Amino acid sequence: MTTAIYSHPDCKRHEMGSWHPESPARLQAIEDQLLASRIADFLEYRDAPEADVVDIARVHTPATIARVRENVESLERNGTAYYPLDGDTMLNPFSWKAALRAAGAAVAATDAVIAGEVNNAFCSIRPPGHHARPSESMGFCLFDNVAIAAKRALEVHGLKRVAIVDFDVHHGNGTEEAFLNEPRVLMVSFFQHPFYPYTEVLESVTNMVNVPVPAYTKGDTVRELVSEKWLPALHAHQPEMIFISAGFDAHREDDIGQLGLIEADYAWMTQQIMGIAKQYAQGRIVSCLEGGYNLSALARSVVAHVKALAEID
Ligand SMILES: [Zn+2]
Repeated sequence: MTTAIYSHPDCKRHEMGSWHPESPARLQAIEDQLLASRIADFLEYRDAPEADVVDIARVHTPATIARVRENVESLERNGTAYYPLDGDTMLNPFSWKAALRAAGAAVAATDAVIAGEVNNAFCSIRPPGHHARPSESMGFCLFDNVAIAAKRALEVHGLKRVAIVDFDVHHGNGTEEAFLNEPRVLMVSFFQHPFYPYTEVLESVTNMVNVPVPAYTKGDTVRELVSEKWLPALHAHQPEMIFISAGFDAHREDDIGQLGLIEADYAWMTQQIMGIAKQYAQGRIVSCLEGGYNLSALARSVVAHVKALAEID
């Protein structure tokens, strides 16, 4: 098994102020922990290319893309440090490039996995994506990397069915909106509720199995809902490829949320997803980093996730 790790230094040049939890230090912590875990022999490190705007435009409106690009250009012209898109989503002069690298990682990983160059891939990228609505960047997210990759698999590679698994503590409202009632896409997730982004919990939408859980839910309960709700839906959908919105902010040490997962829960969930992927999808998985703000818990959880992807004991 080969697992590719896609990243790029540009993803660390986007930053939103020293107070902001979605910081460049997150990617550094992941890099350091991957090195320290001595699993490099099982991994293939690849530079993320810049996404083509055509790929982003399969998910986002031209106005949404232009709002990021044009405001970054005006920052460069005016020598200003930040432009606020909303109360907690800022642009700096490097944000456009970082967003292109993040989406580009997801697209390139999709192409490489479908081509059979690698078995699966983890994209160590920022800005994250799953809150970015088709018509509005929000919630630390500029463009929805996972949605862009899934669209690429459907529209360019002609896959007929894909699945998106989102285990971030927050509801992936952007991804849900992008694929609502799209029969080729099944999305499964759990998320703390009520909690940011406070979107309505949808009932009776057949391609969305997004399960709200209360604060202080622990890993054993999450494993039960994965077994009882996600896996039957995934078996029924028979995805030809699986995308993961891999947020690690449901970790018990992460203070942004109040859930109680640990590294072993992330490894277990990844193994379940691997099982589905092997059964229906030739093992094809592309995983993209979303949240995770306690640097130590984030880095340890990513290593557990990547070890499961690479099938390292
Ligand atoms: Zn999150």
